[in-house]
Amino acid sequence: MKLWAIRVPRKLAEDTRRLLLQSDIIHPEARIRRDNEHILIPVNSKHDLDELAGINGTDENITIIESEFEIKPKKPFLEDILGFTPTFDVVGDIAIIDADDPDAARIASALMEFRHSLKVVLGAASPVEGEFRTRQFVVIAGEDRTHTVHKEYGCRYNVDLAGAYFSGRLGAERQRVAETVKTGQCVVDLFAGVGPFSILIGRTVPGASVVAIDKNPAAVELLRENILLNKVDNVQGREDDARDAAESLEHQADHVIMNLPQSAREFLDTGIRVAGDEGIVHFYDITHEDDLYLTSLELIQNAASRQGRWVECVGKRIVRSYAPYQYNVCIEFRVIDNDKANRQKN
Ligand code: SAM
Repeated sequence: MKLWAIRVPRKLAEDTRRLLLQSDIIHPEARIRRDNEHILIPVNSKHDLDELAGINGTDENITIIESEFEIKPKKPFLEDILGFTPTFDVVGDIAIIDADDPDAARIASALMEFRHSLKVVLGAASPVEGEFRTRQFVVIAGEDRTHTVHKEYGCRYNVDLAGAYFSGRLGAERQRVAETVKTGQCVVDLFAGVGPFSILIGRTVPGASVVAIDKNPAAVELLRENILLNKVDNVQGREDDARDAAESLEHQADHVIMNLPQSAREFLDTGIRVAGDEGIVHFYDITHEDDLYLTSLELIQNAASRQGRWVECVGKRIVRSYAPYQYNVCIEFRVIDNDKANRQKN
């Protein structure tokens, strides 16, 4: 194809290419080529070059010419191959798709072909279910495994998707919570899973101490591996039921993380019990769009009253969409001992 191009000496080619890139005038599909000691950079139009100050006429070795160029085959996107945009999650080098999708095999082979970092495509064969919030998978393409290492905000996590809960979608939320923790503070992560909240806090706030609890033995085994993997000595992994663990942690935490959205309401008493005076509880819930926060706030207030304590809401937000009309929300509240709250009121 005949195109206008800028012909530059090889030693000036890279600087010129960068300058042209900034102005967005390099032809996107034509291949840059060599012409003896010069490089020919194809552009969209001669008009663009005429307007570009600083190139044309500044060096007699730089000229504008018309020449033949080979057109690069356009790299196809997944959408081009499939004819639709597939839905999938990525954890480490594993992609997760819906096993029941009639196009599952096609999606899996397109993912393996176009996302070279992926080594496995798993099909989710059940919803996230049960007390341990796990799901069943079938391998649709690639290696036969559910284990991977996921990197997030400078931490690495050993994950076994079939054995313990993990979602790569909560990275920004974990980072946001970690940023609220200050050095010297005590954090209790009541439903820690493989440790992504706890370990991020341990790593980014070395002066904090974190107790990470989970009831699922497989999750705690991975949590302990991840504590070592990330070299954090201020995170302690405990295999326990959150309610039982609360007995030895009463009124101790500056931050309580309650990331068990489907049933966190049942553990509100536990979370409030663990919070120290002025402690902040990061409470995750699933709510309907017509009642994003109100019922949850009432339940929180009632749970605090049962323990002779007071709560003050310090933040509330939608974390992500969960299902049609339903949202995963986070409510953050400060727990205050009643006598202190009364003194402040008077
Ligand atoms: N916070 C982790 C994360 O972001 O990946 C895990 C969250 S996952 C939704 C909830 C976790 O709570 C699961 O790992 C599950 O095993 C744990 N769990 C459920 N019931 C529990 C209980 N009674 N005591 C302690 N952990 C529990």
